Amino acid sequence: MNTWTQRYGDALMNTFGPPKMVLARGKGARVWDVDGREYLDLLGGIAVNSLGHAHPRLVAAVTEQLQTLGHISNFFASVPQIELAERLNMLLNLGVTERVETHSFFTNSGAEANEAALKLTRRTGRTRIVATEGSFHGRTMGALAITAKAAYREPFEPLPGDVTFVPFGDADALAAAVDDRCAAVVVEPVQGEAGVEIPPHDYLSAARSITHRHGALLWLDEVQTGIGRTGSWFAHQNTALVDAPVVPDVITLAKGLAGGIPIGVCLATGGAGKLFDPGNHGTTFGGNPVAAAAALAVLDTIVEDDLLEHVATVGELLASGVAADSRVTGVRAAGLLIGLDLVEAKAADVVSAAQDAGFIVNACRPDRIRLAPPLVLTAADVAEFVDAWPGILDEAGVTR
Ligand SMILES: *Cc1c(COP(=O)(O)O)cnc(C)c1O
Repeated sequence: MNTWTQRYGDALMNTFGPPKMVLARGKGARVWDVDGREYLDLLGGIAVNSLGHAHPRLVAAVTEQLQTLGHISNFFASVPQIELAERLNMLLNLGVTERVETHSFFTNSGAEANEAALKLTRRTGRTRIVATEGSFHGRTMGALAITAKAAYREPFEPLPGDVTFVPFGDADALAAAVDDRCAAVVVEPVQGEAGVEIPPHDYLSAARSITHRHGALLWLDEVQTGIGRTGSWFAHQNTALVDAPVVPDVITLAKGLAGGIPIGVCLATGGAGKLFDPGNHGTTFGGNPVAAAAALAVLDTIVEDDLLEHVATVGELLASGVAADSRVTGVRAAGLLIGLDLVEAKAADVVSAAQDAGFIVNACRPDRIRLAPPLVLTAADVAEFVDAWPGILDEAGVTR
């Protein structure tokens, strides 16, 4: 065992199991471990490092902001925070015919964004939440209450109650579960942690009409799918995934928004954006100038470098490249969020073999690999991985 791994085990809580390796630095879509070995990072800190590692634009924005004004608390406002909330409003209004008013509450993570949203739904005067099987919304108590996975929930019960789970992607099941007591339906446009599960194209529009019918909020958790990941600013605007863009009442974002600087946001439209009164919710760090400046740098770079189009192109290249091996029995691709079904439940072996070959990938299920690389992944990076892929499967012992 290397000494860093040993020291990790002695000093940190054992929540994640032993780390796969100890990393020292990164540049673009590459990282290097403490022994100087190079890896192509096809996980991007779990869909977080939108601009890759050490992007000059992000480094400059964070450095400049920290040198100017780093933290102030929410007794005060800062220019980057206000500008970021306005920019998110602008992005939400793309492709929408009637202008939508939005209000933002900034947090430091996806779970916290969902906690804020969950509290917001209570302000409707209703308590019942309809969530989906396979969902992942975070590990804090409220976020866990709407997360389906039994292994995550059960050690911590009782959780905040009044949550009903329905099969994901099934509009009839949703229609049957939602009633006039329902505060909100919460759903991921594409389930990320469940292994890149893509629902039927009319699912979100069905969810929108069902929630409208019962006066319930439609809350989309775009923590993993938002900010360019699928090739659109939001997955719910992506016509490759949905039959028609919907206007949700609540959207939660985090992961890729600030490219690796911790941030989250609970973004609400129309009347939902005004449900909180002063004193209803709060945060010390949330919306701090550094995180907001980082997010603005990410959004600017996505625009200036045409990354949405790039994600769609490179995502297709990557998905079709790895699908060419017959041991991949299914591909679930939403831009640069890709799930690969393997002919055998050997995903953990594939992760190890990939690491030995200099690539970072993720096993989201025993029989499925997830790729969520930086949005700046190049066609040359893709070619390198696609060339190595059959050898990785051989090495992992996946039978032909
Ligand atoms: C990762 C994730 C979360 C939790 O975000 P954290 O920042 O880890 O708290 C919530 N929802 C979805 C869809 C996620 O992928």
